[in-house]
Amino acid sequence: VVVGVPAEQPGEHRVSLMPESVRKLVTAGAEVLVESGAGALAYATDAEYTAAGARVVSRREVLADSILVTCVHPLQAAELHDGQILVGLLGRRSDTEAMSSYAERGVTVVSLDELPRKLSRAQAMDALTSQANLAGYKAVLVAATAYPSAFPLLMTAAGTLRPAMVLVLGAGVAGLQAIATAARLGAVVHGYDVRPEARGEIESLGARFLDLGITSSGSGGYARELATDETSRQQTGLAQAIGKYDVVITTAQVPGRTPPLLVTEEALAQLRPGSVVVDLASSGFGGNVAGSVPGQTIATAYGVTVVGAGELAGTIPAAASLVYSRNLVSVVEHLLADGRPAIDLDDPIQAAVVLTYDHRTVTPEDHDELQ
Ligand code: NAD
Repeated sequence: VVVGVPAEQPGEHRVSLMPESVRKLVTAGAEVLVESGAGALAYATDAEYTAAGARVVSRREVLADSILVTCVHPLQAAELHDGQILVGLLGRRSDTEAMSSYAERGVTVVSLDELPRKLSRAQAMDALTSQANLAGYKAVLVAATAYPSAFPLLMTAAGTLRPAMVLVLGAGVAGLQAIATAARLGAVVHGYDVRPEARGEIESLGARFLDLGITSSGSGGYARELATDETSRQQTGLAQAIGKYDVVITTAQVPGRTPPLLVTEEALAQLRPGSVVVDLASSGFGGNVAGSVPGQTIATAYGVTVVGAGELAGTIPAAASLVYSRNLVSVVEHLLADGRPAIDLDDPIQAAVVLTYDHRTVTPEDHDELQ
């Protein structure tokens, strides 16, 4: 198989395959084409790719000559051709417009946004987890930098500084890493989530669980969207509890929905001047914090800093690319049989991640028919 690694779009510093992963694929018999400069912003040079056994070529050659194209962000369907397989974080089955354009082009889409993460065989492929983990870590560094005081308890000859009180809302992959990181920096950390199992996970990291009396479990281990009355109870409860925290990091998401609004204007007004709120859920579709804007840091009228963090994994491009490319090696290995791409929609992982195939968008009911 010929695997192609194009450079990502401007502004994205990650690369989909790092040299160590290229070496692994080459050793397994693949030919790998890397666009010149593709790894530069993740500190992987063309020379390292060449040493790992790749051919470093132009973008045109990568896209013309590879069968399997890896990426972080989606490429335009127009750049690809019939018979190619595109692997990356390519969106969800419900993105029908984007998927139709790939299907019309004859491109097979393998999107890790749809990976069945609970399957143990899929865990090595779980790019959402590898990236969320780093985003949760970085969110704490962003918060600590914007915070005008220090995180740890400091006992010095000049007296004692009290530790920062940190609240993490949403204790999934990113939230748990944020809790662990803030604790390592010496803050007093509390965590909150609506999934019942989250309490134990938060407490096992040595943090305290903030109990607002609302629980919700949806399918596949995810939260479900709260009902309107639960949302307003949650917002009121948080507004009452939030005043004692110096730093709030929010990570709450419900798959396929807009992120829930947790920290309202009223809650922001309860925070002391100098407090910092980092909204990891901030995106074009809203966020967990009133007024947060992705990529922007806003000073509120009450002296609170609100950071709309958006995608933070990309700001640690070397580590994020390394783990992402390890995820992709597992995916590529899974897609091959005897060294050739073999789409098998009876396989539970492929049935979930293959969103277009054979000039059509694949819906779960199609599987039998296609085989
Ligand atoms: P996510 O990014 O979808 O959401 C982040 C967190 O926000 C979740 O913990 C969710 O419960 C929480 N949340 C949603 N609505 C909320 C609300 N209104 N108030 C407070 N919190 C709210 O989640 P994720 O990090 O991708 O992980 C989701 C689940 O999947 C977790 O149970 C995680 O442990 C599990 N998971 C399992 C595996 C595995 O089994 N290998 C891998 C990854 C994730």
